[in-house]
Amino acid sequence: MRRKLAAGNWKMNGTAGDLAELEALSRTYPSPSVDVLICPPATLIHRAAQTVGEAGIKIGGQDCHTASSGAHTGDISAEMLMDAGASMVILGHSERREDHAEQNEDVRAKARAVMDAGLKAIICVGESLEQREAANTLDIIGGQMSGSIPDQSTGENLIVAYEPIWAIGTGKVPTLDEIGEVHDFIRARLERRFGEGVGRSVRLLYGGSVKPGNAADIFAVSNVDGALVGGASLKADDFSGIIDALQNA
Ligand code: PEP
Repeated sequence: MRRKLAAGNWKMNGTAGDLAELEALSRTYPSPSVDVLICPPATLIHRAAQTVGEAGIKIGGQDCHTASSGAHTGDISAEMLMDAGASMVILGHSERREDHAEQNEDVRAKARAVMDAGLKAIICVGESLEQREAANTLDIIGGQMSGSIPDQSTGENLIVAYEPIWAIGTGKVPTLDEIGEVHDFIRARLERRFGEGVGRSVRLLYGGSVKPGNAADIFAVSNVDGALVGGASLKADDFSGIIDALQNA
């Protein structure tokens, strides 16, 4: 049985005052029946971890370096994220692939670092609008998976997030059939590469304009084990609507 996961990505949003949202979430979900994760900016990880304390909510990072320490000004290692209180790390988000020219092999090296440190990697894949319109979606996703997912992956340390780039922050969402097609494809690829046992145990998240109003429909799609949520994770009220939908799925 795959444990469902509602993951919030605050991106470059949030200062100390916003921890009140996390406090509110903690009060509402002292022991959620699904995994609930918030990935604040790195500056807030330690305080976020202190805010949730022993509560059921988990804290994650949004990126990390491939090395565990060294002369890399401005970077943060997986070990440092763990030390600050993170248990998962988002990797290969399309904004990092675009803003920082991250390639699949960079994402794979980062994922190795995360897994070696004992954290879970949430590896993002997704096509652009041009790629979807050219009917290249599955080729793109397959290539990103082969290139970005390391061999040491297991159902314990890997989570894959399907995030069509054109759906991120736009209010546009693929049809439920389109989401199902990609998630079934990702599942089949994982089973083929890692065997049925591991392939079936990896959690698959959908990300891209998930809101309280569309979450229940998305969570009913086959092989959708939760969501990676940007904008709607910033406010406890909005994110609660998504967590509730996942708990009831
Ligand atoms: C994201 O950035 O991963 C994301 C899915 O954003 P949004 O929910 O705002 O579309």
